[in-house]
Amino acid sequence: MRTLSLSCSCLLLLAFSAVAMAEEAKLKALIVDGQNNHGVWPKTTQMMKSYLEDSGKFTVDVATTEKKSTEGFAPSFQDYDVVISNYNGQRWPAATDEAFVDYVKNGGGFVVVHAANNAFGNWDEYNQIIGLGGWGGRNAKSGPYVYFDGKDDLVRDTSEGNGGHHGRQHPFQVVVRDADHPITAGMPKSWMHAKDELYDQLRGPAENMTVLATAYADPATGGSGRHEPMIMTIDYGKGRVFHTPMGHADYSMECAGFIATLLRGTEWAATGKVTIAIPEDFPEPNAESNRPFEAAKN
Ligand code: ZN
Repeated sequence: MRTLSLSCSCLLLLAFSAVAMAEEAKLKALIVDGQNNHGVWPKTTQMMKSYLEDSGKFTVDVATTEKKSTEGFAPSFQDYDVVISNYNGQRWPAATDEAFVDYVKNGGGFVVVHAANNAFGNWDEYNQIIGLGGWGGRNAKSGPYVYFDGKDDLVRDTSEGNGGHHGRQHPFQVVVRDADHPITAGMPKSWMHAKDELYDQLRGPAENMTVLATAYADPATGGSGRHEPMIMTIDYGKGRVFHTPMGHADYSMECAGFIATLLRGTEWAATGKVTIAIPEDFPEPNAESNRPFEAAKN
């Protein structure tokens, strides 16, 4: 009997070490949130956390500011492989701003989702890091509008005007412009995204930025009439940044294309490589593919 229980303990110990090693090998992600003009943010954070954890590639922590203050908000960015922003609110404390810029500059990964590109309109380094942004006082001084014209040329348009606009929400087609990047490699040339806000007329420094995919902001739905950036990467110092303006609402984030893009973009920001496959249910050019989200039961 004693021998049996001893072997059991040994097996248990082995099992625990195996689990510990698997956890060790996972990428460490941090979602920052707490203030957002999108009231659904607690749910969209939960959705992104679940998607990342369910991929088996990430462990995910969440750092949340107070509702009406950022006092004392000081996540240890440097402990993570990648930071994901679902935050659009008050400026962080100066020391946190500095720690964040240092983190990206020294090789940290950063992921910008939807309204996170509305944040911090007057923070120069943040705008360098995200490439393009909207609202928050952004105008011609923030940098050019960047889009593809009807001839498939990338335009940097320095004309006057505010940054950030969208027409009516609707499902729209995302068109891959660069299929050689690890994030978009193997993706269908075009795919139908779920109902979302199609951000147009974003503007910013857009330095060291690559536009991997666009969507046409159709004037028929109130859009700019331009092919607007939908998947972008930015190099900032040694850091890699993945930026998606998609993800307005919970239903927008149920899109299998959004989920795959988020996972692959986050892995790329963390490591420079993508091992997460394009899923079987990835949307086709003219058909949405959505996964109804069920919150974890625990
Ligand atoms: Zn929105």
